[in-house]
Amino acid sequence: MPNQQNSELSVLTVPAFNDNYLWVIHDGQHAAVVDPGDAGPIRDALSQHGLTLTAILLTHHHADHIGGVPSLLAHTQVPVFGPRYDGIEGITQALGEGERITVPGLALELEVLDVPGHTLGHIAYVRRTPGAHWLFCGDTLFAGGCGRLFEGTPAQMADSLAKLAALPDDTLVYCAHEYTVSNLRFAQAVEPDNHGVALRMRDATAKRGTRLPTVPSTIGLERGTNPFLRYTEPGIVKSLVDAGRLKSGASPVDAFAALREWKNVF
Ligand SMILES: [Zn+2]
Repeated sequence: MPNQQNSELSVLTVPAFNDNYLWVIHDGQHAAVVDPGDAGPIRDALSQHGLTLTAILLTHHHADHIGGVPSLLAHTQVPVFGPRYDGIEGITQALGEGERITVPGLALELEVLDVPGHTLGHIAYVRRTPGAHWLFCGDTLFAGGCGRLFEGTPAQMADSLAKLAALPDDTLVYCAHEYTVSNLRFAQAVEPDNHGVALRMRDATAKRGTRLPTVPSTIGLERGTNPFLRYTEPGIVKSLVDAGRLKSGASPVDAFAALREWKNVF
């Protein structure tokens, strides 16, 4: 569990299930957990680091993001922050676009963005402290990819990703799954001339060879190498047209939809 220092707050990477990451934000004493799909690894991380849970933050309603909440609350009562419109029971503070929270127990202010697409009510949390820009984006933006469109439309997801892409380049992207190598394999197929993708693939493959996480990434890296933030690039449009997945002259949203559908079967 690498421990990334950032100002006085740190973020623990807690692996769970096959490829999930649960995030524990802490100051050495108090901790908030993001998307605790499984309580066991969270309890282990808290006890290993001598931390007291003071808040739970949720991005969307899928079980691998909320499944551990009842078990965590059985031992301690803490506020549960989450999306207003994603149908999650037990949220004590419902949140939506533009709202700001101070996380109980921590000197941590977060801003909420609505990012529908993967689910309709999905939200993301942004820390805008100078020198410490963080993004907790659940299953919306991944390293080298994006979440599947289970509920929203391609236009909604494209808008959500555009919001995240507009964050500062040095924003650390704490996404919820280790999908990077397979995402980059797709990125190489749709944008073979992007040297940044090839470099990133080499780096990610080396990290995974020693079981190191490839996340967090940064918004700057995603903007340069993630095809789902680059679907208007002529090279990507040409790949879509050459593969028979897009008519030439189609709209950017059509290109985004075609890219997402291609990835679904890649
Ligand atoms: Zn999900």
